[in-house]
Amino acid sequence: MDEFSFIESIQQHYYRQSTLAKGVGDDAAVFSPMGNDVVTAKDMFVENIHFAKHTMTPFQIGYKALAANISDMAAMGAKPVFYLVGITISKDWLMEDILKIYTGMKSLADQFKMDLIGGDTVAGKELVVSVTIIGYVDKEKARYRNLAREGDVVFATGTLGDSQAGLHILNNPGEYLAQEFFIRRHQLPTPRVEFSCALESISRLSLNDISDGIASEANEIAQASGVSIEIYEDKLPIHPAFKQFPFEYQFKWKLFGGEDYEILGTVPKKHWMTVKEIADKMNMLVTDIGLVTPPKASGHVLLKRINGKIEQLEKKGYNHLSR
Ligand code: ADP
Ligand code: MG
Repeated sequence: MDEFSFIESIQQHYYRQSTLAKGVGDDAAVFSPMGNDVVTAKDMFVENIHFAKHTMTPFQIGYKALAANISDMAAMGAKPVFYLVGITISKDWLMEDILKIYTGMKSLADQFKMDLIGGDTVAGKELVVSVTIIGYVDKEKARYRNLAREGDVVFATGTLGDSQAGLHILNNPGEYLAQEFFIRRHQLPTPRVEFSCALESISRLSLNDISDGIASEANEIAQASGVSIEIYEDKLPIHPAFKQFPFEYQFKWKLFGGEDYEILGTVPKKHWMTVKEIADKMNMLVTDIGLVTPPKASGHVLLKRINGKIEQLEKKGYNHLSR
């Protein structure tokens, strides 16, 4: 299969977004956002850094690559509408598996009514999938990280640490409780777009998606907002079967694990019940895990341990440039 027939086989036959004027097939795509703010982000996935053939199928690699990008839209309160895919294909990948990566992306794109409007295809030494996503949000309604204020409730959706637990199970096969749940959370994460878009009526919110673990995400919010954040260890939401893992793994995964693609946010106290009601209606878990405080010399993010001790939580998720 050459580059041209490849592009032909992955392109959509019709587009769903009415703001699209030109999709795949010209030198560039064209769309008219109709009074919305345009929100865009990119996330790249490199074989053996972000995923490995023995823990992820090609379908799941595509699904997760797009999920991570959609999750960035959720973190901005934006609705995802378009995506572009740059792919570097290495010799040890079969064309049918590359097409399955696209099928994985498409299955998620179908759920969110997104259109694939472009990309680039090159050969190289290892598989790299680079997705650019474009979303819309009402004018000036993007949910920035610098919007946390003293007194806000800090909340997290879903349960934390599941993705790393799933990866652990995949790498250490054995008998586990809720294996399928944890593995699914690693391979096919659900970005929380519906939830964050449903919070639209709330005047002020800061949101961050949990790609690198809540320690890192909370630090980003606290730094950007010039505040400190207190998190209570006993409130961190976990799946009931999470307790089967050694305590030090639990601690590491739920705070520093990442790839859960849940949402960490802060909201004025008076709106916390609204957040909870919206989540309840969607059958989603949302938990208040902490409080925004004035900036403290002892650190941007402080964890109140179950034994009452207070520790600084550093921003130590996965860091690609640390050597
Ligand atoms: P150009 O030479 O103008 O860059 P290409 O031959 O690279 O054009 O691409 C032709 C069309 O196919 C463009 O619309 C481009 O966005 C799209 N395209 C190329 N590769 C991909 C890909 N991997 N995924 C999605 N669209 C692609
Ligand atoms: Mg090109």
